Amino acid sequence: MARYTGPNCKMCRREGCKLYLKGERCTNGKCAFDHRSTAPGQHGAARKKVGEYGKQLREKQKARRYYGVLEGQFKHYYEMAEKMEGITGANLLSLLERRLDNVVFRMGMAASRKEARQLVLHAHFTLNGKKVNIPSILVKAGDVIAVKETSKESEKIKALIEAMATTATPKWLENDAANAQTRVVALPEREDIDFEFEEQLIVELYSK
Ligand code: SF4
Repeated sequence: MARYTGPNCKMCRREGCKLYLKGERCTNGKCAFDHRSTAPGQHGAARKKVGEYGKQLREKQKARRYYGVLEGQFKHYYEMAEKMEGITGANLLSLLERRLDNVVFRMGMAASRKEARQLVLHAHFTLNGKKVNIPSILVKAGDVIAVKETSKESEKIKALIEAMATTATPKWLENDAANAQTRVVALPEREDIDFEFEEQLIVELYSK
């Protein structure tokens, strides 16, 4: 399935919540959802009764869109989560958090996951000292994600490193702004994820 290229704000209206897909615009009073929160389309404002399956589907779409993951990739994460020890829903969210593009976003180097994905694709980072350009790579405890030395010369990257210095990271990451890097001190746990998901609904959807 192709990556969605339509308006990001439409996705928030479809999911009925702010997904924070556009960086600063999401919090500076210009958010489209704050002004109009009904679902997109001619009949978007009409009240619709949503069944169990509909709720499960929406929750899956919400998580998929929040992390910017394609359908097939998302299913793959679910299958991985199922095979892991522990609670499948929590495992799934932990896997999504561990994506390199999400880590770059969490370390404060990008205003959105989409921007983080672009930075990774343009090879501005190293993972444990090696150049990396794959946004879906899953980080592990002990990994170090750093801005590539040659990228530090770019004015744009310099500004992002400054922004990083003032970012409060989740407790599973430890920023070292002086060296433009972050270290994964532990794997993310469910309580580290500061967004409301009903992951059990996703598990129910895939368990059918
Ligand atoms: Fe969603 Fe608002 Fe951000 Fe648009 S500006 S992506 S509606 S949170």
